[in-house]
Amino acid sequence: MASTPTFQLYNTLTRRVDPIEPAEQTADGTPHLRFYSCGPTVYAFAHIGNFRSFLTADLIVRTARALGWDTTYVTNVTDVGHLTDDDMTDPSGEDRMVKALRSKEGQRFANIWDLARYYTEALLRDWRALNLQEPDVRPRATEHIRPQILAVQQLIENGHAYETSQGIYFSVESFPDYGKLSGRGQDAEALVEGAAAQSRDVVTDPDKRDPRDFALWKKDDAHLMQWHSPWGWGFPGWHIECSVMANEYLGPSIDLHAGGEDLIFPHHECEIAQAESLSGEPFARYWAHTRFLQVEGEKMSKSKGNFYTVRDFIAPEPEGRDLDPLALRLTLLSGQYRKPFNFTFDTLRDNVRHVQRLQDVDALVDDAMAEDAPGDDFLGERLDALYDKALAALCDDLNTPAAIAAALEGAKMLGGVGSNLNGATARRAKDWLDQINALLGIIRHDETPASADDPEEEGLDVQALIDERDAARAAKDYERADALRDALQEMGYEVMDTPEGTQVRRQVRI
Ligand code: AMP
Ligand code: ZN
Repeated sequence: MASTPTFQLYNTLTRRVDPIEPAEQTADGTPHLRFYSCGPTVYAFAHIGNFRSFLTADLIVRTARALGWDTTYVTNVTDVGHLTDDDMTDPSGEDRMVKALRSKEGQRFANIWDLARYYTEALLRDWRALNLQEPDVRPRATEHIRPQILAVQQLIENGHAYETSQGIYFSVESFPDYGKLSGRGQDAEALVEGAAAQSRDVVTDPDKRDPRDFALWKKDDAHLMQWHSPWGWGFPGWHIECSVMANEYLGPSIDLHAGGEDLIFPHHECEIAQAESLSGEPFARYWAHTRFLQVEGEKMSKSKGNFYTVRDFIAPEPEGRDLDPLALRLTLLSGQYRKPFNFTFDTLRDNVRHVQRLQDVDALVDDAMAEDAPGDDFLGERLDALYDKALAALCDDLNTPAAIAAALEGAKMLGGVGSNLNGATARRAKDWLDQINALLGIIRHDETPASADDPEEEGLDVQALIDERDAARAAKDYERADALRDALQEMGYEVMDTPEGTQVRRQVRI
């Protein structure tokens, strides 16, 4: 292999392309990348734009692993506190989850917890279908309320937060570095004017000391998801969840943080303010942001009829278009993450063909390996050079077009040799295809971990166990009920006793 390339990414914080140097190394000197990527709010099916951002994170992890690095990759599920007007410093409006429940589509859910669970599971299915790497931890905001409350308490104690009748706010004035990521938010007047220009009111709470201050905790004893806190019933602000969960699983100072470009301000700016006020240490040294996807040159929107979820493409007909999910994956990867990306049906069609070609070559190589015709390997060096080219391209600020071009060049070369592949060449070619697939994930699905089984496939079994457990509890046969709980847990479900009987939900891998 050629000399190991340096992994470089554009860093929103320093405004230049920086070599990524993880702060920690394992005992044997291997760099250990600690990486947090903002996950979705589970109030609807994820759309193709969301997945473009998640795919950036996926490629970062794949590239780091291809370099032989150790990685700890955390990406969350936001299931509370993300409000509709989240582009404002202090997001206002309705909780997205609650709004979704009240919509026509939401009426099929018994309650907000059901809605959250349903869309989380849908997310996981899309995630696996598009062959994204499983994170090491996928924390949910609602399962980390206590550390969020403790963080808010600590911010009050150290003078970075204050209480009003409506909630607890972070005091932006107490953090002079506010604005260092986005270059925005220093000028309170500009912020108010900006919001006024969009005819929105930034200061929803008259007791806020500064319009830039944002809510850490909202007091609300009528909210559908509420917890008890030192300040009464309420729910956490959206920004605090990511600071707290990143700290929980990666420590107070992490290497890299990623998300879509809309998160630079206010979400990530606020995350920095909270995290650094809590720890006194730099929160993340590198920040990577994905430019938004557009569809046929326009912002994706339901009203324009150009809004697509992942399942609009990959679900079987008539719900979807029955597209190979890897073709959608390749399409979403085909533009570099930092350039505006225009999703078009022409590009999609091209990429269906590209994936097909890679898969045909993969099958061809399998056949040639089985036949094992005699002869020496005659392609290995050229294939290795193409792999090096692909890896070097990804190390160069995730230059996906160049990496994909190298993969397709190799496929063309192999396709050209066709049935003349001897056994030795085919074995080298198979290694190459495996390596390319580990890097880009576009030929076949990586192995799916056992815990990621489709719960719907197991649905009948699970329901039978639930029914049996409820019957056992009704008959006060607690020994049997406990045994059935254990069986459900073994299958990877959390088991909850509720007034409506046994409820289960799939354990998110931690
Ligand atoms: P949300 O569910 O709104 O929190 O979004 C989840 C992730 O998708 C965030 O990182 C967003 O920045 C990102 N995202 C949302 N819309 C798009 C888009 N059109 N293109 C790329 N990324 C997006
Ligand atoms: Zn976040």
